[in-house]
Amino acid sequence: MPLKTCPVCGGAIVGRSDKVYCSDLCRHRTNNQAKASSGEHMSTVNAILKKNRSILKTLCPEGTAVVPRQVLTSMGYNVQYFTSIFVTQRKDVYYICYDYGFLPLIKDDVARALIVKPPRTMQFRDPWLYVKNKKG
Ligand SMILES: [Zn+2]
Repeated sequence: MPLKTCPVCGGAIVGRSDKVYCSDLCRHRTNNQAKASSGEHMSTVNAILKKNRSILKTLCPEGTAVVPRQVLTSMGYNVQYFTSIFVTQRKDVYYICYDYGFLPLIKDDVARALIVKPPRTMQFRDPWLYVKNKKG
């Protein structure tokens, strides 16, 4: 029978064949590492969101502003992260970042962002409102 080794410390595993770690200590270490790395991920995302918000605030201290996408990008805006979305009746999608938001536009072949503060009167819209029914 091949000797199983512990994925944490590399030590031999003695005892039941379904044991994964050599000891409770190593099992707890793994759990703690998983917790630490998900905490790290959350603080990375939080930092991105804060940066996004501060970019929107800089470009649009109040009211509305239209800026080329290039400007957002060059300032380090990360469009993958937002705190919520807002879909208007016309199905325009605003990407909200705390108390700011933007609507992507393309005008005269140039990608732009309409930045808003406050992001209008945002009423909650059912996320399933515009979803097509799938059969089968
Ligand atoms: Zn171990």
